[in-house]
Amino acid sequence: MNDHAGSDLPIRFDILTLFPEMFPSVLETSIPGRAAKANAAEYAIHDLRDWAEPGGHRKVDDRPFGGGPGMVMMYEPLKQAILAAKKQMPEGVKTVYLSPQGKQQNHQRLHSLVIDRQAIIFVAGRYEGVDERIITRYVDEEWSLGDFVLSGGELAALVYMDAM
Ligand code: SAM
Repeated sequence: MNDHAGSDLPIRFDILTLFPEMFPSVLETSIPGRAAKANAAEYAIHDLRDWAEPGGHRKVDDRPFGGGPGMVMMYEPLKQAILAAKKQMPEGVKTVYLSPQGKQQNHQRLHSLVIDRQAIIFVAGRYEGVDERIITRYVDEEWSLGDFVLSGGELAALVYMDAM
């Protein structure tokens, strides 16, 4: 529970993504769009490349910390993006990483988060996921959409926001 529980304040969702263009059409349409217009929900979409080293290719992928195959989302830009989002959000904000290893959420859980007006930062992964240090240091919960592997966390974030 937080200070906003049961209030008329909008529920606030921030999304950290490499593909911000995936969000507006869904969040401005139908019930998510009506929720925003009625001031029941607020969405802020952040492009992770805004926190990449300026110049060059604005790199956001890196080799996994501690080794392993493939590439993961680089630690520093993601960390800076999470810290910046937290500064703009209500106290007690939860950072949720969308992950096939996470826990699948159900109606009862999502409903109670809405009643609590729980602000959420969704981290949408790409590549082989995110740098492990992000999960251990900054992520409060990992949420899965189901027992399958998507190409990115964006659709999972959209589904959960729609349900909420
Ligand atoms: N081998 C990686 C793993 O096990 O995490 C697969 C990464 S997947 C290609 C890229 C991103 O998609 C993940 O970092 C995660 O954010 C998202 N993702 C994939 N499947 C998901 C699922 N079932 N639920 C939620 N997010 C998912």
